[in-house]
Amino acid sequence: MGKRQEQEEARTEVTEVAPDVLRMQLPIQMPGLGHVNCYALVDGEGAALVDPGLPGTTSWRALQDRLKQAGIRLKHVHTVVVTHSHPDHFGGATRFVRESGARVIGHRNFRFGMPSAATPEVSAEHLGAEKPAAEAESEAGKPASAAAAGNRALGTWGGPTPWGGTRPRPPFKQRMSWRMMRMFGGTDFVPEISDPVENGNVLRLAKRDWFVLHTPGHTEDHICLHDPELGIFLGGDHVLPSITPHISGISSSRDPLASFFYSLDRVAEINGIKHALPAHGHPFSDLRARTEAIKRHHYDRLDKIRAISRELGPASVEDISKKLFQPRSWGAMAESETYAHLEHLRLAGNAESHREGEKLIYTAG
Ligand SMILES: [Zn+2]
Ligand SMILES: [Zn+2]
Repeated sequence: MGKRQEQEEARTEVTEVAPDVLRMQLPIQMPGLGHVNCYALVDGEGAALVDPGLPGTTSWRALQDRLKQAGIRLKHVHTVVVTHSHPDHFGGATRFVRESGARVIGHRNFRFGMPSAATPEVSAEHLGAEKPAAEAESEAGKPASAAAAGNRALGTWGGPTPWGGTRPRPPFKQRMSWRMMRMFGGTDFVPEISDPVENGNVLRLAKRDWFVLHTPGHTEDHICLHDPELGIFLGGDHVLPSITPHISGISSSRDPLASFFYSLDRVAEINGIKHALPAHGHPFSDLRARTEAIKRHHYDRLDKIRAISRELGPASVEDISKKLFQPRSWGAMAESETYAHLEHLRLAGNAESHREGEKLIYTAG
């Protein structure tokens, strides 16, 4: 099978994908992803950047190169918009705050790491021994802003999962964020959101009005931007062209998959989209068809889980995930996504669960 478009390496050229909207590809190396798209929305004063890539010099240099090509001076980057709390999207923001005094726009509940209001089984009391050193350091003896960043970066992977069983290796994104905390001296790379927004807010960018859509699912703090005048949709990771974003079972939402479906439906209702601009992969136009395909993918997974459950009988999340995913994908992320699907079935009355020891055992019919 050929490379999926989201896996393509970052290309250096800058392309105008819609009037006054420039696509700049920045390098990332993550499973299934080869680049992240930073979009520059250009106006008379300079530009707003949506999702300025990872923290660190590689991404920063690439972005400076793209800005130079576009004739945008660093000091004229007046705004950074972060679509959600993943480091490949918000990581570059803090440096713009420092170098150009940019304001940072993100959802009012922007929070990096695990939400502190997670299910009781994964609450902060389990943090204890395995809390990463860098994070512990950042909370002690640093100024208030760093402590606040520490709170935003609260990790909960030290404890058992809600579904029990052997303690999983922290998922890739969590390991990466700890590594980044070490590399960048604590959590200073997590931006303060200077201009928090919520659903329905209007932003003036690229000399036009953009509506903020709150689209929880992939993360609870995910936002998309919609310009009804020219039919432009900035989708972040919510609607990607050929892959589906990870839906984590560990969330402040009881049913993150239901939230995701709801957010896909909100997007599908938008008329007149000509340019859907994703955070990974190429621009596309049929936004509604893509939301339907993503929903269908998850409906298929739900059906498959029910078939697996009929075959296995009562089974743990780990056992079900190993039937649902290929061996190369086994682990915490697969279990977390399986758990999200099982809880979705349970809350809809299509599955039951009980505890055996520390493990949750599901029966889905
Ligand atoms: Zn993401
Ligand atoms: Zn992403």
